[in-house]
Parts: sequence; C-alpha cells; structure tokens
Amino acid sequence: MSVVALTRLSQRNLLDWYDEHKRDLPWRSTNDPWAILLSEILLQQTQVSRGIIYWRRMIETFPTIQSMADSTVDTVLKAWEGAGYYSRARRLHALSQTVMLPSADGGFDGSLPSSYPALLSLPGIGPYTAAAVASIAFGQPFACVDGNIKRVMARQEEMVDPSAREVQVWADEYLIQRRPGDWNQALMELGATVCTPQKPRCHRCPVQSSCKGKNTPTAYPKATKTKVKEVTLWTCVEFDRLGNPIISQRPQDGLFGGLWGPQLNEGQVPNPSEEQRFVGIVEHKLSHRSMTVHVFTSTRASSQRGHNPLDVAMSVLDQKVINLIRANEHVIPPHEKK
Ligand code: SF4
Repeated sequence: MSVVALTRLSQRNLLDWYDEHKRDLPWRSTNDPWAILLSEILLQQTQVSRGIIYWRRMIETFPTIQSMADSTVDTVLKAWEGAGYYSRARRLHALSQTVMLPSADGGFDGSLPSSYPALLSLPGIGPYTAAAVASIAFGQPFACVDGNIKRVMARQEEMVDPSAREVQVWADEYLIQRRPGDWNQALMELGATVCTPQKPRCHRCPVQSSCKGKNTPTAYPKATKTKVKEVTLWTCVEFDRLGNPIISQRPQDGLFGGLWGPQLNEGQVPNPSEEQRFVGIVEHKLSHRSMTVHVFTSTRASSQRGHNPLDVAMSVLDQKVINLIRANEHVIPPHEKK
C-alpha cells in the first residue's frame, strides 16, 4: 500500500480523545513491565471485564517474575483456572523461568527485556505482545496490530480485506514515536469502545473526518467466519468413599493440557451398565469447538483415591461435569457421600 494514498488521520484528535476518555483499567496505573505483560497475555483471548478479575488474581499470586518462576506450573494453572486458553499460563510459567536464568545460560538475569527482538524470543510472546510490552512498558517505538486496529484501519481506508502487512504498514506510518504506548492504546481503545464491530458510534469518533468507510462501516473489514466443530463426548465419573472424584492430570500438549479432569471419551455414547447411572448432559463452547458431554457416574465407590477439585486446576467444562453430578447427589449411594 502506498503511503501517499493514506488519508491523514488526526493523531492529535485521537490522542486527546484517549487522554480524556480512556477506561480506568488497573494495569494502566502501573509502570511495572511484569504487570503490563500479564495484562497483555490475559487480554489476548479474554474480555476486558473478565481480564480485570484474572489480572488481579495473577498479580496478587505472582507479584514478581521471580515469584512465578519459583512456583510450579500447576500453581500457575490453578491461578489461571477459568480464564481459558491454558497454554497461555503454561507459556507464561516457561517465560518466567527463562527470564530468571543468567544471561550466560540464555536468560535475562531476572529482568524482563525491553527490546522487541528479545521479548519476541520469549515463550508465548508473538509480534503483538512484543510490540505492546515494548511500547507500553518501555516506551519503545513499535506499532501494535490487533483485531481492533485492523478494524479501524480497514474502515479509515475503506478496505474490505487488508492483509496483515498492509495493516502493519498503516500502523507503523501513524505511530507517534514520542508516545508509542499511549498511541497504540489509543487506537485499540478506539476500536474497543467506539469503532466496534457492530454499531460503531461514528458520531463520537475523534477521527471521523478522515474516515473513508464511515457511511458503511460494517462493510469493513469483511467478516471472517469461525468454523465451529461439534463434538460429542461421554464420561463416567467415579468417586471415592470421601466423595472426591477420580480425576487425573491431562497431558501438557492437548486440550486442557495440564489441567485435571475425568476421562473424556469420543465416539458412540454407551448405554449405562448396572453399576452406572446417567446423570445428564453438559454443553460447553470453546471458540472453535462446541462440546456436548453425556455424563454418567458409577454407583459404586472406587477403590482409588480421588482428588478434591479445590486442590487442583480444572477447566470450566470439567467443573461443570463434577457440579452436575454433585447437584444430583441422589445418584451417588449414601455410603459414598461425605
Ligand atoms: S468514523 Fe466510524 S467507522 Fe470510521 S473510524 Fe470512526 S468509528 Fe470507525
């Protein structure tokens, strides 16, 4: 895309608007790079309202990089419980351990690096997060590109399907070198609160005058359809004599990696045997998967020892399964109850 063809967006209008209207988010009142990194990792795939809750939990549990590096990955997963996309938590733990290594061993002597390439080299850090942390925490001139910025760019330039490269060129062109962190956040804030996917509030937009797409904003960029796979699963959960479910830790690299839960089976849902009872169905949606789990429980106490769900990290789906059974406690013989 030719830079000459750009409509000049008023940087001053947008920054002034940001200074006056930005949301009061807790990570905006700190300069601590670790706290800012945590917010960026969380916000990758979590809504801001939920992100605030989880950010507070994470920063209280792990106030420093060292505190996370000294913890087990299971402790990090437990703190992350419910936030979803658990690979983020596992990579964050790996990142903390890398940062704590001596530089002679490929680490950063306990300090989060400030340069874009060094940030990019860390586990779980992609181009967006590296640019966000470099600019917001360290004042480095790197332009972020995320879904919000892509939408603002596509509408400003009236482009139906801008490529990642075109969005990056646009973002680089407009980046304000002396306030890169505020500038990146201003563009993202505009996309999150004014130039929203549906019903953008163009009458309140500080850069409306330069916007080529303002008459039909929702035509830009074209919507991308997410393919959602329907999956049917079944599980039969046994309990020990104390009423704790028999659950195990899943492999680190699969769905809900590192989290605890009952075995989930794909394929034909069986009829319950004499020692099983059907309890009900749990529905659970992930971004690319719609899961229907047929839940059975055993009517006999297991000889194995179960785990208290409060002591281990479990996905929301697994919690729903256990809660469903516990809400139907009549299916568990009295001798198995606590
Ligand atoms: S004028 Fe409307 S479509 Fe254009 S950037 Fe502003 S909010 Fe988005």
